[in-house]
Amino acid sequence: MSNPNPVMADELTYCAVHPDRETSLRCNKCERYMCPECAVQTPVGYRCKQCVRQHEDKFFNASQWDYVIVFAVSAILTGIGAAIISSIRIPLLFILILGLPIGGFVAEAALRATQRRRGRRSNIVAVAGVVVGGLIGAFVQFYSLYLSIISDIAPGREVPPLPLDVLFSSVFSDISLILFIAMIAIAVYGRFRMKI
Ligand SMILES: [Zn+2]
Ligand SMILES: [Zn+2]
Repeated sequence: MSNPNPVMADELTYCAVHPDRETSLRCNKCERYMCPECAVQTPVGYRCKQCVRQHEDKFFNASQWDYVIVFAVSAILTGIGAAIISSIRIPLLFILILGLPIGGFVAEAALRATQRRRGRRSNIVAVAGVVVGGLIGAFVQFYSLYLSIISDIAPGREVPPLPLDVLFSSVFSDISLILFIAMIAIAVYGRFRMKI
């Protein structure tokens, strides 16, 4: 006695994207078959990439202009912070303690400025703003420090431009400053990745 309908009982199913891959896993929203590579684990179960993307599109509602605002707010606030950090010698410990909360404040300001709209790339844009703004703030601070020292030594004389390599090495050898920028970047990245 054999199974009367072996084909029906044992039907093979294949991934909707990769027809050569046998799978029995289905998207729990649209019910299409998907191979392990096509499946995305979500808090509500396995879903196909298309359904995940659709879900994200509802969540991400930022315009191009919002990206500009997020970049600008992150850059300006971090720039001001970096200028302060590099002018007053704050102990490393304080930066370790205050870095993340200050980063959280920067992210919150950027979110408020855009009415909390976010895009797929808001976190990257915010981090870019933090790094660019932080370095510019530090460069400006070091340069004005240089100008004031020169005018103290030789008042009234024309100030020769500071060589770029000296400017770069003084900024990048300031561990407090680099740590400050890095911690703000981490906090901002984390804040923008959070779903709420
Ligand atoms: Zn689906
Ligand atoms: Zn597949």
